[in-house]
Amino acid sequence: SKDAGGDRYTLFNEGMSTQVMRHIEIEHDVRDALLQEQFKFALQAQIDINTGKLVGFEALIRWLHPKSGYIMPDEFIPIMENSESMITLGYWGIKRAFSILAHLESLGMSGYRIAVNLSASQFLDPNLINFMREQLALSEQGADQIELELTERTVVADIEQTKGIMHQLKALGFSFSIDDFGTGYSSLAYLSQLPVDIIKIDRSFIAGMENSSADKQIVKSTVAMVRKLGMKVVAEGVETEQQLSTLSTMRCDIAQGYYISKPVLEEELYPALPSKLDD
Ligand code: C2E
Ligand code: CA
Ligand code: CA
Ligand code: CA
Repeated sequence: SKDAGGDRYTLFNEGMSTQVMRHIEIEHDVRDALLQEQFKFALQAQIDINTGKLVGFEALIRWLHPKSGYIMPDEFIPIMENSESMITLGYWGIKRAFSILAHLESLGMSGYRIAVNLSASQFLDPNLINFMREQLALSEQGADQIELELTERTVVADIEQTKGIMHQLKALGFSFSIDDFGTGYSSLAYLSQLPVDIIKIDRSFIAGMENSSADKQIVKSTVAMVRKLGMKVVAEGVETEQQLSTLSTMRCDIAQGYYISKPVLEEELYPALPSKLDD
């Protein structure tokens, strides 16, 4: 009926405006959030599948908003991307990663790696290389302990530019991983032209392994090919013992996912560490 159509139209409008208002609110509040240090990292463990040992963590950002509570990065990163705030937040993340490494070392845990996500605008920021050089000089930690995660989309944009930036950061000692591999438009042939150290297979393929023989084949052949190309391979989103043992059979190097550990806020991680390490 006409009425129902009218209602739907109103609902649609209200839905839109709530979303738009949330977007505007996030865009606005993010500036204060940076000044007031409302961002934190949650750290998610990565283990060597062969030995079961902890190799490091991926740093995943969380925003503790004074009114809205925790806001997840999938909501605010896309809003911030291409803004000055994204660059500022990226710098915060790198500094934080160095200080986490220093803190871990003070707890007697040295030699672990922290993987930090870099969005396209951070990666293309002309000041990035100088900033990284500066932070490295200020820190006692080595660049080899920081892994920079780039998505396929970021690295396929412009091969020459991508290569140039990556080689400069590699020369400083940083390492690179390709995030969410399999969801974008790159191939291992393309990525092997770049100084990539690690390929992270997207969690949708890991989730699909049990029910889809195609996904299982994709994971298996990706693992084999990545290893042949001299890179390491991380499986993301490992949620079950079955997945972990399948990955082990395939000789996948590293696993990350809820089955191993959920991301843990820094303040919760440090007290938990000694007992975790005893396992
Ligand atoms: P991502 O880089 O692919 O990070 C992995 C996401 O998968 C994280 O979501 C993590 O909490 C989640 N995850 C980990 N294990 C499992 C699992 O076993 N099952 C399932 N279903 N999910 C799992 P999160 O923390 O919400 O982050 C979402 C995305 O936001 C990240 O995806 C990344 O693209 C972006 N992001 C997070 N932190 C940063 C940051 O500091 N900078 C930038 N530029 N982006 C970030
Ligand atoms: Ca990532
Ligand atoms: Ca140094
Ligand atoms: Ca990922």
